[in-house]
Amino acid sequence: MTQRPLPEPGSPELKVLSTRAHHILYAYLFMRRDDPPTMREIRAHLQETLGEAPSQTDRRVRDLRDHFTIPAKRISGEYRYVLEGWTTSRTNGSRKSISGAVRAQVLSPQRCAMCGRTPLDHQVTMVVDHKLPRHWGGSDEIGNLQPLCEECNSGKKAYFANYEQFDEAIRQAAGHPEPHGRIGELMKAFAGDWVPAELIEIVASIRQYQEDWRKRTRELRLLGWVLETEKRKEAETGRIRVRYRVTSWEPWPQGSIAAEVRRRDPSNNRAPAPER
Ligand SMILES: [Zn+2]
Repeated sequence: MTQRPLPEPGSPELKVLSTRAHHILYAYLFMRRDDPPTMREIRAHLQETLGEAPSQTDRRVRDLRDHFTIPAKRISGEYRYVLEGWTTSRTNGSRKSISGAVRAQVLSPQRCAMCGRTPLDHQVTMVVDHKLPRHWGGSDEIGNLQPLCEECNSGKKAYFANYEQFDEAIRQAAGHPEPHGRIGELMKAFAGDWVPAELIEIVASIRQYQEDWRKRTRELRLLGWVLETEKRKEAETGRIRVRYRVTSWEPWPQGSIAAEVRRRDPSNNRAPAPER
């Protein structure tokens, strides 16, 4: 099967793109195919040419991915956006709809899962939210869906847009079979940078909800990891943001991570593990 070649910027095939910003973005990625840009560079380019806010840029990259394959690849230590080709299957795109029955079931509590407001008491509009966003590998399974008010939903999107450069790493971390592994791989991918608690919670919970994801995170210390926590108040919203980072980590034990954590946990009141 031969891939349809990428169109030159400005060619009629690109009428699928809806705005001038999308065309500028496409032209930029096209021009830099041999030297793919980082998200920082892409944002800077759109800011220079259009005066566009960075959060807008992230969304435009996602829009472009409805039509083109643009993986973020780690090249010499940085995530770079590579315009590779047309998207072969549109049904893999982010716009595939969830069935009406599932939508109704998710929305049935009629209460925002983040702020607790309701359409009846607070005139908010409810939407179906993917706990782990689609572009990080989140599924349309009911366990990955929750009711949010529009405001919380767009706040969450804007917040997570800051982590677009970690797309590939987040998808990989989410694939680890154990919660400790998913949390740890996520933190490793951030390589000493702060990881927001919300992101840890959803990546930890991708297979099933992990009520004690905070405990799982702290338990990495039992494996010899150096873990820091920080709490700060967000100036704009007054919301308390908690974030974590690891500055040093150990290889995973052979076999079950959870079993090794239990073995090393002093609160388990067992005979101390032999010195190694
Ligand atoms: Zn809300």
